[in-house]
Amino acid sequence: MKEDVQGADRMASAISPYGTPLPRAGSLWGPVPPPPPGHDWEELMLLALNEAGMAEACGEIPVGAIIVSEDGQVIGKGHNCSISESDPSAHAEIMALRSAGAALGNYRLEKCTLVVTLEPCLMCTGAIVHARLGGLVYGAADERAGAVESCLNGLDLPFLNHRVWHMGGIAAERCAESLRAFFQKSRKAGR
Ligand SMILES: [Zn+2]
Repeated sequence: MKEDVQGADRMASAISPYGTPLPRAGSLWGPVPPPPPGHDWEELMLLALNEAGMAEACGEIPVGAIIVSEDGQVIGKGHNCSISESDPSAHAEIMALRSAGAALGNYRLEKCTLVVTLEPCLMCTGAIVHARLGGLVYGAADERAGAVESCLNGLDLPFLNHRVWHMGGIAAERCAESLRAFFQKSRKAGR
């Protein structure tokens, strides 16, 4: 722990090649803002769960995501389709980022929030930072591969040059149940 603090101090005093001070470790994103106008987080999570249902209908692990803009418009949607697309990067979050990027004509989705049914993995936290998202809301925690809080604080690493506020646990039981039911069914089917 002591070493971590010293490491963070060292990072904070380092000079970046871009001439800006590197950010300090820890949660720099401040309080979680209220949901966008006309929405609440649970209702937005239901939209993401609806996307998860589409993944399940294709035999994919049911994870779904949506992206909502600061003014409350749903600008991106996606569901896990790695198997059907033969694409290891086709996670729900990535599909939603692609869909929102295409809708806005911009790979930077500043001030937008990603709402996803399962805690994002390492790859997706990286993409979230690249997209310059404002915030992340997720449902169920992923104790095996979650890279936001469970296995790694992937959005709060000291070297990152962009901070994303994040909040888990929205409609968590419902999100977890849809995954449990899917895996139970898969085991019964011997898949
Ligand atoms: Zn992922």
